[in-house]
Amino acid sequence: MAQKIKVCGVIQGVGFRPFVHRLAERHGLRGWVRNEGSHVEIWVEGTNEQIQAFVRGLHEKHPPAAQIKETYTEVYPVRGYSDFVIQESKEASGDIFISPDLALCPECLQEFRSHRDRRFRYPFINCTNCGPRYTIIRQVPYDRGNTTMAEFTMCQECSEEYHDIKSRRYHAQPNACPQCGPTLSLVDAKGCICREDFSHLLAKGFILAVKGLGGFHLVCDARNPEAVNTLRQRKGREAKPFALMAKDLDVIKKYAYISKEEEELLQSPQAPIVLLEQILPSSLPPSLNPGLKTLGMMLPYTPLHHLLFTGNLDILVMTSANLSHEPIVYTNEEALQRLKSIADYFLLHNRPIYHRCDDSITAVVKKHTQISRRARGYVPLPVKITPLKRRVLALGGDLKNTFCLAAGDKAFLSQHMGDMDNLEAQLEFRKTLSHLQSYFNIAPEIVAHDLHPGYTTTQLAQSLNLPLVGVQHHEAHLASCLVDNNYTGEVLGLVCDGTGYGSDSNLWGFEFFRGTIDCFQRLAHLAYVPLIGGDKTVERPDRMALLFLLHEWGQEGAKWAEKLLGFAPSEIALYQRILQNSRDIPLTSSCGRLFDAVSALTGVCRRNSYEGQAAMELESLCIPGVKETYSFAVRQEGGIETLSLREMWPELIADICKKRDTGFIAAKFHRTLQEMITHTFLLLREETNITTVALSGGVMQNKVLLSGLLTELERKDFEILIHRQVPPNDGGISLGQAVIAGR
Ligand SMILES: [Zn+2]
Ligand SMILES: [Zn+2]
Repeated sequence: MAQKIKVCGVIQGVGFRPFVHRLAERHGLRGWVRNEGSHVEIWVEGTNEQIQAFVRGLHEKHPPAAQIKETYTEVYPVRGYSDFVIQESKEASGDIFISPDLALCPECLQEFRSHRDRRFRYPFINCTNCGPRYTIIRQVPYDRGNTTMAEFTMCQECSEEYHDIKSRRYHAQPNACPQCGPTLSLVDAKGCICREDFSHLLAKGFILAVKGLGGFHLVCDARNPEAVNTLRQRKGREAKPFALMAKDLDVIKKYAYISKEEEELLQSPQAPIVLLEQILPSSLPPSLNPGLKTLGMMLPYTPLHHLLFTGNLDILVMTSANLSHEPIVYTNEEALQRLKSIADYFLLHNRPIYHRCDDSITAVVKKHTQISRRARGYVPLPVKITPLKRRVLALGGDLKNTFCLAAGDKAFLSQHMGDMDNLEAQLEFRKTLSHLQSYFNIAPEIVAHDLHPGYTTTQLAQSLNLPLVGVQHHEAHLASCLVDNNYTGEVLGLVCDGTGYGSDSNLWGFEFFRGTIDCFQRLAHLAYVPLIGGDKTVERPDRMALLFLLHEWGQEGAKWAEKLLGFAPSEIALYQRILQNSRDIPLTSSCGRLFDAVSALTGVCRRNSYEGQAAMELESLCIPGVKETYSFAVRQEGGIETLSLREMWPELIADICKKRDTGFIAAKFHRTLQEMITHTFLLLREETNITTVALSGGVMQNKVLLSGLLTELERKDFEILIHRQVPPNDGGISLGQAVIAGR
């Protein structure tokens, strides 16, 4: 008999067709396999038993990086093929999966380390199970000629491997060796070729710009405080923590606590940065992560990274090479131009990067993996969604931007694009959008955007000449959490974040809803405070503390603002006058700003030099085991539940005056939020009989808050949804916008 089998999933660029070829030969089948762009088609002829065993093998024995989503089979009359072959690719059509980049596999690493192997220490070794994918694809389907490897012609030996069905490099598109493939070059800041060993330069304390998979990293010895400080000064990066790359797992274990789940995540083909709890006291310079007790760690994921670690070097700073908020630098020319005042040397190579892609960032909270930056290793795999009625382009938000192209049952999110406040980022956005649109062949019918009138993405939406759908920021967060969990029932949702534009024109950020993606209703929020200074207040936790004290505690609050925050009486009086006289100050219910206020008041952080600093430092201080809470109240005000912490301020200041440990106060504040949130959910469950809760928003990256909340809510028998595939922060809202607009 003959059967045609259609296989859908992640099957391009992961050694799937060679695998099918070997499997067919093993079972004595004849026919062919070919890439159809959106899927792989297989024709097999043989006995019924042979074909059944073959189909079982497809599901059970496929390559580690492949993911089979669906298979369809049809029976046909036998055509009488004499052998089994891989047919050439046809033009791509329909929807398509492109594999993300994959970390170096164990087999390739072994060859890389073997003196006798012809690729001994070759920095571009790869096979069908590992290597660059998304970052080198110019167009689909994924064939060498469509990648940035097109300009390298394979030598005899590489070509034989490429065509040898028994080889691990059979149809490995980026296949290369020292004879025929890309090469490294080391140059100094003037662009002159340098003969020194680059790992010795790192050991001597120099800063290198190293070209990686999706862009350049700035690299230095993480154990050298002078090198770390120099990098901070030259990059103009005051306090934001640096990502680190350790030589191997044993090195990570010297510096951080690590669970089984975290270990697996670090060693996965995605090889993301994992936020780990630091072992203290530590021999690492405190300037790596000022004020924090977490380390963002990753393992070498390209062969080139393994070359960086020689001698005593075992841990490196590995931070994205970009200027302030701009996208990561990714071409040799750009690096030599833009990084010349930062890097002492440049480790370049001649395999062009086509798509910029930052390192992904993840954390494990109570065994759940949560992604806070979704890029290398994850993009461009789609999120499966309930089929949409219309094809949508959702533009996301202005911070931590991603966009989303969705059609049918798939939503393709772009890699993390960064903040949209600069021209470079906007250009990158347009470029990536046009690429992904052509790869996935999605011509949007509508454009979804945030309601914020001042967002760059909102203006961009208006320029696209398509029907627009504005989606409220926090509803988009919540929808993304539901889709992320493939949940279609009704939920009670909580979204806590910095700020998002509310449907009443106030700046929301601590919001309870009920509903499904078809309709959300706001049921409760944190009591509003006036936000004098608007968005600029984000940088000034001390001003936020002043506003809370004045608004919620009046003259007494003013006294403490002077005493604890050092405001001059004249400045306080000015704020009081504005509060009394002005009618059109925007109000905010932001959770992020509440964290800022508490952080400033307790003396932890009065100025944010990066987004979320005050909150992260406060979280880092929390001591375990604190049971006490501050007072809170939940009241009906104008048909909506309002959460008030008015009574917390005097109690918190009393703790400060009693010289209670700041770690105790920080933990007590976190406990208060957990109690207040759980209390509110219980009230709402009473009213609505809804027992499933969904948690979203950037504040859910706070591990202390989230893990405590999970414990509390589980104890009260709630079913809980948290993010899995997309970030809880603004990096996830494009998905929510897409499903709300396209349903
Ligand atoms: Zn490999
Ligand atoms: Zn070769």
